[in-house]
Amino acid sequence: MNPMLHAPIRRTKIVATLGPASDKDGVLEAMLEAGVDVVRLNFSHGSADDHRQRLTRVREIAQRLGRSIAALGDLQGPKIRIARFKDGAVHLEEGKAFVLDVSLDSDAGDEHQVGCDYKELADDMQEGNVLLLDDGRLELVVNKVDPPRVHTTVKVGGKLSNNKGINKQGGGLSAAALTDKDKEDLKTAIDIGVDYLAVSFPRNAADMEEARRLLGEAGKEIGLVAKVERAEAVADDETLDGIIKASEAVMVARGDLGVEIGDAQLIGVQKRLIKRARSLNRAVITATQMMESMIDSPLPTRAEVFDVANAVLDGTDAVMLSAETAAGSFPVETIEAMDRLCLGAERERSAQESGHRIHEGFTHIDETVALSAMYAANHLKGVAAIACMTASGFTPLIASRIRSGIPIVGLAHNPVAQRRLALYRGVVSLPFDTSGMAAEELDAQALDLLKQHNLVSTGDEVILTRGDHMNAHGGTNTMKILHVS
Ligand code: PGA
Ligand code: MN
Repeated sequence: MNPMLHAPIRRTKIVATLGPASDKDGVLEAMLEAGVDVVRLNFSHGSADDHRQRLTRVREIAQRLGRSIAALGDLQGPKIRIARFKDGAVHLEEGKAFVLDVSLDSDAGDEHQVGCDYKELADDMQEGNVLLLDDGRLELVVNKVDPPRVHTTVKVGGKLSNNKGINKQGGGLSAAALTDKDKEDLKTAIDIGVDYLAVSFPRNAADMEEARRLLGEAGKEIGLVAKVERAEAVADDETLDGIIKASEAVMVARGDLGVEIGDAQLIGVQKRLIKRARSLNRAVITATQMMESMIDSPLPTRAEVFDVANAVLDGTDAVMLSAETAAGSFPVETIEAMDRLCLGAERERSAQESGHRIHEGFTHIDETVALSAMYAANHLKGVAAIACMTASGFTPLIASRIRSGIPIVGLAHNPVAQRRLALYRGVVSLPFDTSGMAAEELDAQALDLLKQHNLVSTGDEVILTRGDHMNAHGGTNTMKILHVS
């Protein structure tokens, strides 16, 4: 491949949360044009109508731009929150006593006590537990549990305002992953047509299976994303593997996870989780505070530059933006910066070399073909693209678990499969309808499409995978090397 002919294609995908900032005139369109691959509809904020309207606009713009853009609905989950204060906020001072009292009136909090919406709070507490409030900004140490009251001493003080979140250091709050609100939102998510659905605070595989059961037949094409953000989810390999295998993708949800396990632990967990998800053939999203300073500033800090780069070098499929694009002042600049930084990191050699399952046996034909195709593409000179004709998107997913600098082109007919491909690292999703084509034209038509999109040019080699029976899931059994003439 002549590198001068094809501009590099960003492999790492960008997930952007929508909100009031992206609702402003022209902003959503500019964000999508700047490179958003997946939009996140956050059910912690906004109404069902807000989400529906946003997704309708995304689909219109994507259509106009000729892009496959996926939608990720994100359920709020059992985020435990304090109730409210008489005056909206208080200042907690170090060393003073403070009581969490689930029987207290919701609006009656003051600098001595506050209510809590999680009625089992006292049952989950023990003397000596550390509670973190407002994403870890304040710390309380439990000194006496006297249901319905939890007596604490302020260890790190500061301003505390209404409805801030509570996490327990080390985990161990027993709240189930899916609340009544989540069950309602899940129906809305099916109804408005999301492609992926994220479950917050799953404790284990059973929580993901419960979500799968609730999705039922109507949601069978929705990919489940497990947000890894509880200490117990990462406590042992078996639990974590179970969660990964019960999901189509996982999220390194660094906001809550960092509060529960501590920032020092978070570093290793991010690296292991990305690696493990990839080796189990699942996609992975790295989330939270990646470009935090860009909420108020048009440029990222050097630390943020390297945070994004690290996630790319770790092998993440996607990097995610939260308040930066939902509520910040520079949503478009943030996407532009992420695009540029991902491309920069992907130029590093280590981002393109792979040892993926090098010492393992394969179990499926399609998996064998996908991985052989990547091996061939990474070793044969002149290969400009790997093209995978796919019904469900499975072959491009497997192929993209191997690191490479060469684009993987997913050729799918089904729009759901097309959009699902938008999350996978290194995969370009192109609509490809084979229904009117004779078997002997397929290869030439695929090459033509790649040429039209400037992915390949005359003289390049293309590795093509397909099945004998088109449009059958799991049917990939063929790999060909085609010369572009
Ligand atoms: P949230 O999840 O933004 O819904 O809290 C992500 C995280 O905790 O990092
Ligand atoms: Mn979270």
